Parts: sequence; C-alpha cells; structure tokens
Amino acid sequence: MKLIYEQSRPGRRASSLPRYDLPPVEVPPELRREEAPRLPELSEPELVRHFTALSTRNFGIDTGFYPLGSCTMKHNPRVNERVVALPGFKDLHPHQEEESAQGALELMWRLQEILQEISGLDACSLQPAAGSQGELTGLMLMRAYFEDRGEGARRDTIVTADTAHGTNPASVTMAGYKLAKVATDARGNLDLDDLRSKVNERTAGLMLTNPSTLGLFDEHIVEVAKIFHEAGSLLYYDGANLNAVCGISRPGDMGFDIVHINLHKTFSQPHGGGGPGGGPVVVRETLEPYLPVPAVVRDGDSFRLDYDRPKSIGKVRGFTGPFGVFVRSYAYIRSYGPGLREMSEIAVLNANYLLARLRDAYELPYDRLCMHEFVLSARSLKREHGITALDVAKRLMDYGFHPPTVYFPLVVPEALMIEPTETEPKERLDAFCDAMLAIAREAAESPELLKEAPISRPVRRLDEVKAAKRAIVTYGFDEHPDLAGEESSGRQLEAQKGA
Ligand SMILES: *Cc1c(COP(=O)(O)O)cnc(C)c1O
Repeated sequence: MKLIYEQSRPGRRASSLPRYDLPPVEVPPELRREEAPRLPELSEPELVRHFTALSTRNFGIDTGFYPLGSCTMKHNPRVNERVVALPGFKDLHPHQEEESAQGALELMWRLQEILQEISGLDACSLQPAAGSQGELTGLMLMRAYFEDRGEGARRDTIVTADTAHGTNPASVTMAGYKLAKVATDARGNLDLDDLRSKVNERTAGLMLTNPSTLGLFDEHIVEVAKIFHEAGSLLYYDGANLNAVCGISRPGDMGFDIVHINLHKTFSQPHGGGGPGGGPVVVRETLEPYLPVPAVVRDGDSFRLDYDRPKSIGKVRGFTGPFGVFVRSYAYIRSYGPGLREMSEIAVLNANYLLARLRDAYELPYDRLCMHEFVLSARSLKREHGITALDVAKRLMDYGFHPPTVYFPLVVPEALMIEPTETEPKERLDAFCDAMLAIAREAAESPELLKEAPISRPVRRLDEVKAAKRAIVTYGFDEHPDLAGEESSGRQLEAQKGA
C-alpha cells in the first residue's frame, strides 16, 4: 500500500469550495512561511479510499477474537452507543447549571450506588480516568486517612504481589510509598509466610488483584485481610479482574477497604489504543471523607455536586470524570439487571473451556480451575523446539486471532495469558483452540515457519526494541542519513511502508 505522500499529485484537491470573494488580509512578512507546506494533494475519493483501506488493517473486537489477558476485550453492545448519543447526554456542557443537568447527575449518582453494591462498600467517586489513576487516588486516600490518625509518617510501605500488574508498583512509587513484594506460592496464592514477614507497624496497606493476574482466586483472602487489619493497615483491591466475580463475590466482603473498577474492562467501553476509560474508586465508610471533590449527592428528589468536604484529597481529574464512559457502563449494567452474575459465570466457563482444551499442548504452571482468564507457558516448546511465547503469539496473527498477553505475569516464564470473555460463542472458542493446537504441532514440525511469523499480515515481524527506542516517525531515508546503513532499520521502514 502506498503512503499518502506517494499518491500525491500537484494541484489535486479533496474539496471544491467557491473562490473567496473577501479582500485578502495582509499577513506581515515575518509571519509568512518561505516554502509551501508539504501536504499531500489528493482527490476526495482517493483520500477516502486511502483512509478506509488503512482502517481495515486495524484489528479490534469488531473484527475478531481478542483474548488479551487482563484487558477484558469483550463485545461492546451497540445499545450503549444509542444511549450515550441521546441529545441530553451528548450535548451536555461541563459548565452547565446543575438544575439543567439533573438527569446526568442522577445517572452518576445511580452508577455510584450500583458500584457500591457490586463492591460491597459504602461510598464512591467516579472521577479517576482509568484503573491506574484509581490506584493513585486510592493510595492518596490511604495517606490522608493515616495522616488524620497521626500515623502518616510511620506508615510508609505498601505490600504488593510479585504477580502484580506494572501499574501497581508504579502507583505505589508515585504516591511516595515504599514497596514490599510478596511471593506467590505453589498453588498461585500469596505466600502467607512471606506475607507475614512483610507486614508490620510500617505497613500502610496491601494492593492486590483477586482473582490475580494468574486468573486464580486467592484461597486465603479472608486470612490475608485479617493479617493487614490486625496490623492497623488497609487493603486496596485492584478491580481490573472484576469481570470474574460480579454478583458472585464482593471485594468489600473479602475484607478490602478501597476498590477501583476499570469501567472500560468489566463494564464495556470501546477501549484499547489509549482510551477512553474510567476508574471509579469505591471505599468503606471510614474513608468517605477523603474522597475527591466534587461528590455527586442526592438531596431528596434532586442531585447536586458537593464541594464541601474539608478532608477531601481534592480533585484528581477535570470536572466530574469521563461522562460518556459513565453512560455506557450504566446502560450496560442496567441491561443485565440482576442477571449480571451470568456475565461473570460465562466468562469463567469460557476460560475453563479453553484451559481444558489447551492444557495438554502447553504447560500449565498452576494446575487449578481458573477464573475468567488463565496463564499457560510456552516453556516446553522452547526447551524442545526453540519456540517462544512471542513466536506463538505472532503465528496466531496468521490464523486471524489477536495474540494473548505475553511475558506477563513475570512469575511465569514464556507466559501466555488468555482471557476469552463471555461474549464469544463456542465455535469461536473452538477455532482459537484449533489454531493454538495447530501452532503447537507446527512448533515440532516446522519451527522455522513460526520464527518467520506473521507471514500473512501487512506488517511482518519488526525489531520491536528498535521500533520503540529509535522510532522512525518521518518518511524517507534521506532524512535519516545516520540510519541509512542499518539493515534492520531498512527492514523496519519497508515494513512501515507495507512492502
Ligand atoms: C488494566 C490493569 C490495570 C490498569 O488499569 P488501566 O485502566 O489500564 O489504567 C491495573 N491492574 C491490572 C491487573 C490490570 O489488568
């Protein structure tokens, strides 16, 4: 496929407006550019074709199966888009008077109530824009809570698991806490002995995902909560894996005090590629005073924003949060109604079905029933045939599937983390398993094919390190004389051109 600049022909235009009939304005010479900008010149149909062709090279949940572990790439019901496009929602202005935005405030208040019920906790702020921002907000709440009790200086450490998502340690560091990492035991639970040795009077809290990034529910979670609470510290629940437990178990009942919910994962938003997302935090009553302002509150039959919270940590995001995300998640949850638990049950069923079909061809590091996702290892393929998790992932693209998450969690070598979600029919799951099994056979029979993969995609395998560290974001070798001699950069550029 040609770059838009290669299709450009001098004088072609994608618009045909009448000639202007206003007197020209004199632009001062020092503000005038010396050369015309190098913009592509195309006719409108060629322009439309160019971008339409590019768009068909994207892979998304609307084009195929997307088992990217931990990311919950599920189908986004189109009814959500109908609802969010209603004029009263779509045309809302953030500076609008509260009296004229009652419906929007009511929706936010109701969403808060629902998230409290799902979490088993008492108060909610919808403000944070993503799970990671919810983490930072939650840690700021912990700090405010302990400072209020005169324990702020003493409690300086947060405990996380060695399976934790990268955002957990990053948030802990950003919030100014020290990190203590707990090992995973042979069944995939937190190692209780290691845990006990790391909890003391300096511990502010625990940050944990449950089910973990291994897709396993911690069998000692009640005991874990007791250990932290007896030390006077708090428990933070990373809700990224809530899709496994909705309506079945609640973080608040497990003993967690603060929860973030990734609305874009569990409660369906078109996500990936950077947004939009939502990461509301839900807390126990004791932490409510510290929640961000403004709070959305109900006074009888009306709703308003409450800024009068003297102990609040303040604002964590502009205005009141990502409103379109709230509308979609609210529509999504309400369309399930009390049947929301079926969502999680089927997500867990689908994952266990895949696990049962794939466990003989790939290594299973923790041999238990999984929750909504599971982690396999390509370790045996590597040992026997030199085939890595990356090779498997790249080959899956030839079979028309988005690869699973790879090399995470870090405790599993050659990890393949697979999350099918509840919105896939059995036929699609079977097709994916057939491809995974075929790839395991190919690893033995024709490993060189897997090393070359993907072979059928517009872009072949790239030098990913170089692509990230020395990204070529402009076109043309002459502009990068320092790279001209480098063979792999040349390949990379060929790939970018879609050669
Ligand atoms: C996705 C994820 C996060 C971060 O959430 P974002 O909404 O992407 O910021 C944190 N923890 C886990 C386990 C996740 O899967």
